[in-house]
Amino acid sequence: MKISENTRLLALRAEKELADIFYEIDEVARFRTERLLDIYKENRVSEGLFAASTGYGYGDRGRDTIDKIAAEVMGAPAGFMRPSILCGTHAIAIGLFALLRPGDVMLSITGSPYDTLHSVVGMDRADGSGSLVDFGVEYAQVPLGADGGIDFEGVAAAFERYKGRIKVVFLQRSKGYVDRKTLSVKEIGEAAAFAHSHLENEHYVVLDNCYGEFCEKSEPCSVGVDLMIGSLIKNPGGGLADIGGYLVGSERAVELAGYRLSCPGVGLEVGASLGQNRNLLRGLFYAPHTTAQALKTAHLCAYIFGELGYTVNPSPFEKRYDIIQTVHLESPEGLVEFCRGIQSASPVDAFVSPEPWEMPGYDDNVVMAAGAFVGGSSIELSADGPMRAPYIAFMQGGLTYESSRLAVMAAADRCGKR
Ligand SMILES: *Cc1c(COP(=O)(O)O)cnc(C)c1O
Repeated sequence: MKISENTRLLALRAEKELADIFYEIDEVARFRTERLLDIYKENRVSEGLFAASTGYGYGDRGRDTIDKIAAEVMGAPAGFMRPSILCGTHAIAIGLFALLRPGDVMLSITGSPYDTLHSVVGMDRADGSGSLVDFGVEYAQVPLGADGGIDFEGVAAAFERYKGRIKVVFLQRSKGYVDRKTLSVKEIGEAAAFAHSHLENEHYVVLDNCYGEFCEKSEPCSVGVDLMIGSLIKNPGGGLADIGGYLVGSERAVELAGYRLSCPGVGLEVGASLGQNRNLLRGLFYAPHTTAQALKTAHLCAYIFGELGYTVNPSPFEKRYDIIQTVHLESPEGLVEFCRGIQSASPVDAFVSPEPWEMPGYDDNVVMAAGAFVGGSSIELSADGPMRAPYIAFMQGGLTYESSRLAVMAAADRCGKR
């Protein structure tokens, strides 16, 4: 690989200065791995659980054990983790449709939800697609405050306004494709406690946990979240799950989500695992380690591009609560070159050169680097950004730190000194 001596030296300097942070990241991975091994042992994980079921999948012990393990690893009383969940958006849609009924209000307290959820919710207009709003659910949102945290005054006002009708208080942990702050488990806990102490009617605190799993020693279900949802082609699949998602939380929320995954009366009893049990258990086993690789890659990227004079978020030494790193490339060429650099050091499709292109659902052209073994996987190193000022690249993932650092260096060489 052709990487300049200057960039190689810059990476070595970064690693020296980030040593304490890398140590802390490893400490989280060690802690989570120890707990995970205890849980695998208590649940008697063995070869027999890897057997594939077909048809209804009645009595698939592997599937049922994975459901239980997923809940325990995430610190929740109940849950399921299944290959029949197609992506993160699907997982979140299952959770929302499970809990909300006509006339109920869904209140998002972290501003607008992730782009792909806009169609699921229907936001402000019934368009006949079968969105939540189409089914008579009302949607409202409270933007994040000026400091990037929850605007508790704004939330209290919304609670008052929709008194007795709020069924779901919705939060998104990660920044997604907005250059906002990511919430820590502690901050999510404060928001959940606020909701539980202010709302008198039956309600659920629901969290889009995508990209947040395994970044900290605990997950938000231990601090009052009733239903927490994510995708297996992000952190908790460890880069090894081929497909899938999870929903974990309270017994009642998970029971209802099970009825929505399949149908009322059937719930979680049905669902052939089709040979995916091994991948799911192996992926979850790798997840603390893989997430650590991605976190280190994000810190390294922030350091190197910060040194090159670019605005980066989070900053190199800031504590992370998700795996996303943004770099403001400030020109269309810069954004494209960044993505080409990342692509050039990927294990798959390294020989292709990304071009900005029209994407369904986006107003601007988008450029993407994705050289992954699993289609669309973003726990594998990937970068993308809309072609509009300030030309922000969103970079995330990295199965191995060794390979991802090369990709960051290749990008740095292309974006050079400004
Ligand atoms: C990725 C993501 C989603 C949706 O997941 P898909 O698998 O792309 O459908 C939802 N919310 C956040 C914050 C995400 O990062």
